[in-house]
Amino acid sequence: MAEPHAIYLKDYQPPRYQVEHTELRFDLAPEATRVQATLQITRAPGTASDAALVLAGDHLTLEHVAIDGQPLEPGEFEVTDRALTIHTVPERFRLDTEVVLAPASNTALEGLYQSNGMFCTQCEPEGFRRITFYPDRPDVMATFTTTVIGDQAATPILLANGNPVERGELPDGRHFVTWNDPHPKPAYLFALVAGNLEKIEDQFTTQGGREVTLQIWVEQQNLDKTAFAMTALKHSMRWDEERFGREYDLDLFMIVAVDDFNMGAMENKGLNIFNSSAVLANPDTTVDAMFQRIEGIVAHEYFHNWSGNRVTCRDWFQLALKEGFTVFRDQLFSSDMNSAPVKRIEDVALLRTAQFAEDSGPTAHPVRPDHFIEISNFYTLTVYEKGAEVVRMLCNLLGWETFRQGSDLYFERFDGQAVRVEDFVDCMAEVLNLDLTQFMRWYSQAGTPEISVDSAYDAERRTFMLTLSQHTPATPGQEEKAPLQIPVEMGLLDEQGVDMALVIDGQSLGSSTVLNLDESTKQFVFEDVPHAPVPSLLRGFSAPVKLKQTLSREQLSFLMRHDSDGFNRWDAGQQLALKELETLMAAYRRGDEMVLDEFFVETVRSLVETPASDKAVLAEMLTLPTEAFIAEQQTTVDIDAIHQARRFAIACLGDTLFEAFETLYTQEQSDAAYAPDFDQIAQRSLKNVALAYLCASGRDDAFAYARQQFEANANMTDVRAALTQLAHAGDTSIGDPAIRAFGERWAHDPLVMDQWFATQVSRPHEDALERVRFLMAHPAFSIKNPNRVRALIGTFVNQNRVNFHRRDGQGYRLLADVVIELNRLNPEIAARMVLPLTRFKRLDGTRRALMLEQLERIKAEPLSRNVYEVVDKALTSA
Ligand SMILES: [Zn+2]
Repeated sequence: MAEPHAIYLKDYQPPRYQVEHTELRFDLAPEATRVQATLQITRAPGTASDAALVLAGDHLTLEHVAIDGQPLEPGEFEVTDRALTIHTVPERFRLDTEVVLAPASNTALEGLYQSNGMFCTQCEPEGFRRITFYPDRPDVMATFTTTVIGDQAATPILLANGNPVERGELPDGRHFVTWNDPHPKPAYLFALVAGNLEKIEDQFTTQGGREVTLQIWVEQQNLDKTAFAMTALKHSMRWDEERFGREYDLDLFMIVAVDDFNMGAMENKGLNIFNSSAVLANPDTTVDAMFQRIEGIVAHEYFHNWSGNRVTCRDWFQLALKEGFTVFRDQLFSSDMNSAPVKRIEDVALLRTAQFAEDSGPTAHPVRPDHFIEISNFYTLTVYEKGAEVVRMLCNLLGWETFRQGSDLYFERFDGQAVRVEDFVDCMAEVLNLDLTQFMRWYSQAGTPEISVDSAYDAERRTFMLTLSQHTPATPGQEEKAPLQIPVEMGLLDEQGVDMALVIDGQSLGSSTVLNLDESTKQFVFEDVPHAPVPSLLRGFSAPVKLKQTLSREQLSFLMRHDSDGFNRWDAGQQLALKELETLMAAYRRGDEMVLDEFFVETVRSLVETPASDKAVLAEMLTLPTEAFIAEQQTTVDIDAIHQARRFAIACLGDTLFEAFETLYTQEQSDAAYAPDFDQIAQRSLKNVALAYLCASGRDDAFAYARQQFEANANMTDVRAALTQLAHAGDTSIGDPAIRAFGERWAHDPLVMDQWFATQVSRPHEDALERVRFLMAHPAFSIKNPNRVRALIGTFVNQNRVNFHRRDGQGYRLLADVVIELNRLNPEIAARMVLPLTRFKRLDGTRRALMLEQLERIKAEPLSRNVYEVVDKALTSA
């Protein structure tokens, strides 16, 4: 097999032919769906008249091809597994093609496929070329008319983008619906759904007075899980009008839930297709965190109607243009709807663990990559989450009002166009007359910048000198890094914990300011500082960087209690806990007894015993840094020491502060009817954190609380929290009855069974890996369904680090087995699943060798381009 080759951003060429209008006719059948396409094509100005027409087509069976009604002769065109080339075409013409597809055997879940008998599509980024021959690139935008023909009994509902314009019956029990989408769009936003579906419906009136019908389509048994998403949709529509001035532009907006789906959801114009796990929710089956996630995803996909659909990407290198901006928009939305500090804490936690790990591994890439083999490998945390951080920095730099002006200008100027990251940033630069040339490096430079801090207080001169230095470690293919423009928001605390007035060069800067670190090293001298302050740096996590600062335990504890910035209060607590865990890890490594420091225990006690002003934040503050976060701080990751130290600390806190946690647990009980609202979610999370500490003590009365909570069956959040504590108890006889009862109660509900899988395979017990293999044979598991794979394999790999990284290499072997099988079935998911095997750089020699062995084993297989690209990068960097 020839090695797949890379595509480069610098090689971009504008399309030689544009499609004005696309007419599609689908005659649906599981094994032989006929797709007729009629394209109105025009040669782009400046294109040579003898330029061939090349249309992408991925393993399509061509039955017919004609230009202006004239069928082509064999010598006039060429068909390969990847394209249809027509050697000479007129300047304007109509192209007709017909192909045959087999949706029932499409396990890649790209293009047109079947899920539980329902037909559906996924076209982003390059799935449309699996449906018909087409210039499948985002800078070709056309209006679409789509006719869907299907069997009336099997597919009573036939949906596509836009508005329905015609429907009717056909012979042999078949029927059709024709849809028209008047907004020109790239092919990746095309969607079709056909199946036996039912809907809930609602109405929304836009600011401009447009009456929009809202529909959520699901299988009949899921109708009672749609209300929450509908409310979230209406909130999103209103919010986007109020915050960004964006209105919806069709008479109909539809969401469809699909069980087999590679991503979370997809923003197809007027017809969003959702992974059922990202839309279906009710209190009996869904935990609080999922309610919030669903609200965020519904909003994200809806917001794309402007940031993505109306203004789209010129090419796939610009993916962060739509994703970074839209993730930033959904983060703002969630933070307006819920607890803003907790939303920030969650987003930063994800960034600092998973995205930073990506940045320091073999697949590190800039927010805007400059080359790829397979673009679907670049739907990454770097593009999405770091991309959102870059937009957030712009917003902080400009201030909200100006940022909004820049956003308005962007939408106005580029409506209906396919543009680049520069076009977005230029609008922001223009409204404030700023030079953002250096800022653009955030888009082109990979890796996580590190900031080191040096400070000195001069009592005589009453000055405080802060020296900040930046350094970005080399990443594959990028040895040298230029200094970035890094906004460092900060303040100085006085002895009472109050923000000091900040003065630099005689200029008063208020009590919190943003330092512009735009050189390798920069000094900031604060004047009129009466005594040595405690600096609070990187407030609100103002830039996606690693801050290397040495503060004493007393200073951290001081910041934790007094910092006026909520995020930094939490972060100081995390740093304090990290210090404590590092001490325990050192003891563990020496073979000494681990002893928890009194100072730390008392700090936690004061948190538990002081009435909380914000329960959601308190729950976060009481949660120790995760194993993944601790690992990110280490040069050589000591898997076992991290696990043992953290477990010990939790058990010790649970035991020492048992009465305090018991009081907290009892206080936070509530009889109120369940609602996934901010106050209740905060209360439940605090209560369940307390329960976790109680159970970590191993005491019988703690498990009695858990058992009681499990059996009370009040809502899934509480049931799941209790089940986790029971199932994770060292003595398996404590958890086994609950695991059995839960599995029997929910055997009919795949999304709840995913939670059942996840609870079991995240157990720290020694037989966890054997449990994974056992559950892979369970009737509720299927390797063909991405949700099942993520729940069972993904949870084990990412949340059971001590067992995944077993010293005998069995965890790596298990993952390699799964990747090899998925490579044949679903390359996109396979390429995602293989990533943990590429993070070997900072592991000990034994584990590194074991991982490499499995990567070599995978490499020996006939690989999809997706898996090839990831594995090849990893092995090259070894
Ligand atoms: Zn998106």
